[in-house]
Amino acid sequence: MRFGFLSTDVAIDLGTANTLIWMRDKGLVLNEPSIVAFDRTNKHILAIGHEAQAMVGKTHRDIRTIRPLKDGVIADFEIAEGMLRAFIKKISLSWQPARRVVICVPSGITEVEKRAVRDSAEHAGAKEVHLIAEPMAAAIGIGLDVHEPKGNLIVDIGGGTTEIAVIALSGIVTDESIRMAGDEMTNSIVQYFKRNHNILIGERTAEIIKCEVGSAYPLEQEVEIEVKGRDLITGIPQSITVSSIDIREALSECVATIVESVRMLLERTPPELAADIYDRGIMLSGGGALLKGLDKRLSMETTLTVHVVEDPLTAVVRGTGKVLENLHHYMPCLIKSKRY
Ligand code: ADP
Ligand code: MG
Repeated sequence: MRFGFLSTDVAIDLGTANTLIWMRDKGLVLNEPSIVAFDRTNKHILAIGHEAQAMVGKTHRDIRTIRPLKDGVIADFEIAEGMLRAFIKKISLSWQPARRVVICVPSGITEVEKRAVRDSAEHAGAKEVHLIAEPMAAAIGIGLDVHEPKGNLIVDIGGGTTEIAVIALSGIVTDESIRMAGDEMTNSIVQYFKRNHNILIGERTAEIIKCEVGSAYPLEQEVEIEVKGRDLITGIPQSITVSSIDIREALSECVATIVESVRMLLERTPPELAADIYDRGIMLSGGGALLKGLDKRLSMETTLTVHVVEDPLTAVVRGTGKVLENLHHYMPCLIKSKRY
């Protein structure tokens, strides 16, 4: 079956937290949360993206909201494909099918998952589908010359996964993909309030706390915030005041795990490339790169320079877009497809 929704060539960052689409000649045309609201009884999609996000935690029993890519892989194929198709439909103006789609996927993805992503894009009308690993796309997006014989270390912290990779000569030399990223940080804040204050707070609230006062290194000016939730003992809504120091403590395990993984990858990096990384430093991308003080913390623990890339939330889609617009130049950077 063919769905002629695609009107032109597109690049897609199908992230666990956010889906971004880049269109040839137009640039970024879509940036929405990877969330779907659907009817439990017949699995019909009711809303996607921002609209579905507004329903999270507020649905009645016939509606469910899910994030189909939760851990960086496709957790629910049918829903993920429906979401991708709905996003593509949203940006399409004509019925002319696309020739080409470039999609980025986590570097640790299995052959079966690659097949699923490829099939989804084909079902959405794509004639030609190319896959690229996320850290490679991020490196291209931030303007690194990935073809040269020099090592670059990219750390992309998304919602479900943190991807750490050393890139040189158009390929990934060593990499590590761990399921510890933004979602776990948010969750650890929920757990902190439960354990230390007997208060249950919502996920959205925890995420806002993380983004506004969360940190990985002491702040120049520590702050206090008021947090509202439900008292687990009395069941009554409550409000308490905590400091940014408490939130840092809540996030410390997640941060330590990410830092440790970076150190482990450095240990596995061939010495010539390690020398390049010493000169160039570490590049931090993805939404998690925005956690306050993460660059300082990583720098302190690795003794390397750490750069938060410009606009870390769009680095991957910008890179994927560059690949789309200059496919020949970036051909060696793509994931080689296995033929069955
Ligand atoms: P993905 O590629 O998996 O879709 P993104 O790169 O879009 O993920 O990043 C989303 C994650 O970044 C979410 O977990 C979000 O909470 C987190 N994030 C966004 N802004 C900030 C911030 N200022 N501080 C800490 N985390 C942030
Ligand atoms: Mg991402």
